[in-house]
Amino acid sequence: MVEGARRVLVLLIVIAGVGVTAVLGFRPPSPVADAPPAEFAAGRAERHLAAIAQRPHPIGSADNGRVRDYIVDTARGLGADVTVESDDVVRPWRGVRVATTHNVVARVPGAEPSVSGGKALLLVAHYDSVPTGPGAADDGAAVAAMLETLRALTTGGVRNDVVFLFTDGEEAGALGADAYVRRHGVDGVGAVLNWEARGSGGPVWMFQTGADNAPLVSAFGQASSRPIANSFAYEVYRRMPNYSDFTIFQDAGARGLNSAFIEHVHDYHSPYDDLSRLDRGSLQHHGETMVGLVRALGDRDLRAGGGGGDAVYFDLFSRVLVHYPTWLAVALAAVTVVALASALVAGVRSGRLRWPGVLGVAGVAVGAVVVAGAVSFGAWALVAAVRPGLGFLALSEPHERGWFVAGFCVLGSAVLVAAARVARRWSPAEVVAGVLVVTAVLLAATTVAVPGAGFLFQWTLLLGLPALWTTRLAFVAPLVAAAIFPPLVGTMMVALGMPLSAVAVVFAALAGVLLLPLLPSGSWWPALGVTAVAVVLIAVGTARFGFAPDEPRPDSLVYLQDTGGASWLSADPAPDEWTSRVLGENPERVTLPYPALDKPMMRAAAPDLRLPAPGVTAVAATDGPVRTVTFRVTPNTRAWRTHVTLSDPGRRSCRLGSTDLPGSVLDLYGPSSREITCELDPGTPLEVAVADQWAGLPTEATALIGPRPPDTMPVQSGSRAFDAAVVRAEFRL
Ligand SMILES: [Zn+2]
Repeated sequence: MVEGARRVLVLLIVIAGVGVTAVLGFRPPSPVADAPPAEFAAGRAERHLAAIAQRPHPIGSADNGRVRDYIVDTARGLGADVTVESDDVVRPWRGVRVATTHNVVARVPGAEPSVSGGKALLLVAHYDSVPTGPGAADDGAAVAAMLETLRALTTGGVRNDVVFLFTDGEEAGALGADAYVRRHGVDGVGAVLNWEARGSGGPVWMFQTGADNAPLVSAFGQASSRPIANSFAYEVYRRMPNYSDFTIFQDAGARGLNSAFIEHVHDYHSPYDDLSRLDRGSLQHHGETMVGLVRALGDRDLRAGGGGGDAVYFDLFSRVLVHYPTWLAVALAAVTVVALASALVAGVRSGRLRWPGVLGVAGVAVGAVVVAGAVSFGAWALVAAVRPGLGFLALSEPHERGWFVAGFCVLGSAVLVAAARVARRWSPAEVVAGVLVVTAVLLAATTVAVPGAGFLFQWTLLLGLPALWTTRLAFVAPLVAAAIFPPLVGTMMVALGMPLSAVAVVFAALAGVLLLPLLPSGSWWPALGVTAVAVVLIAVGTARFGFAPDEPRPDSLVYLQDTGGASWLSADPAPDEWTSRVLGENPERVTLPYPALDKPMMRAAAPDLRLPAPGVTAVAATDGPVRTVTFRVTPNTRAWRTHVTLSDPGRRSCRLGSTDLPGSVLDLYGPSSREITCELDPGTPLEVAVADQWAGLPTEATALIGPRPPDTMPVQSGSRAFDAAVVRAEFRL
């Protein structure tokens, strides 16, 4: 230990206090039931949400029309200029997606739109939901918050035009946003503010920006009551395959901000994404940020952002957004790394430091980070092996995740305490220097490769430098880290899920090594004691894991009516009490070549329920040098999506309306029938396979199984198949 034990203990408590304060600040504001007319009130927005989130309302459904009518009536009632834009969309994306979208566009004219050369501020949320849930959070909360923001705007307008765009078909592949951009382009768009949800609670993160984001990031920092954002999260997100409406606008060249709340992932896309589960604080946070941004951006020249450069940004205690240009971050990093190098050389020359000591500590610190990650990864593998039921859950996320979050954090701490014991052979100054060298290497690497992540190491290193001269200041770097890292590590655990929590532990350990100069190093006992606490926490979490009516097991059954017979299918890890009634205990494992069912599945034979099949009718056919076939696909009215697969041999081209089809697998959304024309080699037949997907098992099928046990729920949509009937038919034209 560097100092007297009592002083160090006080410092550790202060550092922990700062970390806890940062975590406690990371929550949405309290919901406001009522507020002055110019302000946002979740209580008022909730009334819209009660109308919107009654039932699932996917694109093409009757409830989708009901929600649309509600939005149109409400926005008109508030005095906005409202139009419904209906478009036939054929979007080549993960196959080819075909739908008729109905976007609601509500314009509030500005007092002086020439201030931005007529460019409007565009707020975007999607009003469609997935077929498996009523969509209170995703994206009903944003839709309701936009309607309440529109109302607040009527109390005192802004200079720019403000357009509230309620898109259709986001869940089907951002189809409404695609239609809007095709129709209008983005030249008239000054900035896009998109609002999303991946769960039913938590604070709203501004997690995505784009090029030249500095002016918008600055505006966000001033406008939001709790500006939660950092450029590291954005760097991570942009490397992931996720999409939203924002992606469409960004790809078209528009600038903007994308925000979402992401906690309580179990409710995401599930029947539980309803009004009763929605965190009203998240609704309030959505709305406060919207109103703040509309007022902040509504009066300024939205053209002024061009060439503003990128910003490095992060929030402190969810209250203050620190932001500065990337060029400054690079310059600052260079100066800081050079300063550290000079101080090290001076220290070695003066005899205070020895290179073997400094590098030895650095090696121990890197080793601690690697071990912390590996131990966490192994610990979760063990938990997952003991509790295979975790595999049923989205992201394998246990309902009582707190035990594991605490367990992994304590486990990482145990590794750090052990590392401090190993490092005690070197002088306190060398321990300080060694951990700063690791931080400097990380700063240099991130600044070169991922500039937005540089802040993670910039401020701990810069403010930690004086400790090289006096180790009494060794507490400064970990104190700074305690303000920056805990909410970030916590959110990584939420965003990635427990199976990847080792990644979050690695980041925690990268900051945690700054504590090495302060941790007890006298014996191995502290490390063992902390390890024991971690083991107890993880063991308790594992022991308590299970399914109950309020923590249900998501499972699924698909009834497939195929040309050769009917089957029960499930993509669950294993049969459970409900699914085993039809799958048996040891079902066959198959991978089917059908769209949406092409993952490994369990299968058992099922009786033929003679469900109504989709139809294909030939409209016209001509033969000659080229054979031309026109046919009409008619989904059954109970289908929400229909897959169409066209045979390849001899097929030259196909089109739907006037759009050429770039692929052979189409997803049609909604019950409308569609006419397709194909050109083929002379004399070649066209084979068309059509599969209707119904949301939920039909009563004909549930009658065979009986009701679900109360401790289960239908699995949410996503990569795993959810309760559905799939009715396939094949045609030869
Ligand atoms: Zn969404």
